[in-house]
Amino acid sequence: MNHPLELTVMMYHYIRDKGDEAEAGSGIAGMPVKLFEKQLDDLARQYRFVTWPQVRMALQGQNPLPISACLLTFDDGVLDHYINVFKILQSRKLSGLFFALGRCENEGLTLAHKIHFLLAELGLPGLRNAIWEKLNVAQRQQFTQAEKHYQLKYPPISLDKRINLLKAVLQRDLSAEVDPLLSDLFEMHVGSEQETARNYYLNGKQIREMAAGGMHFGGHSRSHPWFDWINAEARTSEIKASADWLQQFESGPWAFAYPYGGLSEDSPGILKRHGFVAAFTTQTQLRHLDPYFIGRLDAEEMAQDGRIYG
Ligand SMILES: [Zn+2]
Repeated sequence: MNHPLELTVMMYHYIRDKGDEAEAGSGIAGMPVKLFEKQLDDLARQYRFVTWPQVRMALQGQNPLPISACLLTFDDGVLDHYINVFKILQSRKLSGLFFALGRCENEGLTLAHKIHFLLAELGLPGLRNAIWEKLNVAQRQQFTQAEKHYQLKYPPISLDKRINLLKAVLQRDLSAEVDPLLSDLFEMHVGSEQETARNYYLNGKQIREMAAGGMHFGGHSRSHPWFDWINAEARTSEIKASADWLQQFESGPWAFAYPYGGLSEDSPGILKRHGFVAAFTTQTQLRHLDPYFIGRLDAEEMAQDGRIYG
């Protein structure tokens, strides 16, 4: 990249109202639809919205972005994006870049989403106990050690921090061990995991409709692991799965968003080899020096405290 890219990138996840089809009684909160619309109004006053193809052209040195450019991005390919976001963006003649998981039909939920549902159902101590009971001695030792390790990063001073602490243990150190355990707990406390997954993620028909309506899609891996936790072989296979999946919906070269914002030094090279020209992080940044480390702003956090970055 010859010049740093000046671009405000908004990062969204769930956009839903209690009781709507996306929330579906899960108890998993997101950004209320009205608040999302208000934030778009606020952004429209300060920024010029751009599309993924515009950003791609700028990165390839073909056409610079307008000043105060803003790109809207949405992670995880959840139903919220079809039933709530798509309509709103289309009515405003805007486009979004959607980082969906390269999943196969009939796959269950990702580890992260199983944790979301179970936390809503069991609460933090309930989930921790339910998992603990199912671990063997060696796994309990590993669990305790990992907890100790993350206590520095997530000092348990608030409920949110304590939740992040448990998530880090489950999503990283014990991910392989707890993945099947969480599926068992899901069936026991929530219901059919496959049925839930079918209604939870965007399906091919919805994605095609969104693409035909001016939306764009990017990669976000297949199973949503921390890239700094898994090995290079696993990173390659996750990125390849994204490329294979994207072929059906979006003409390349593509964009990628690192799951959980997890970074590893070899990711840009692997992404490049698989047809990706840009990758987005979760780090707050408005000027970007490397196309494979484009920072984003957490839109939900900003909406909660009524902030707009300028
Ligand atoms: Zn994600």
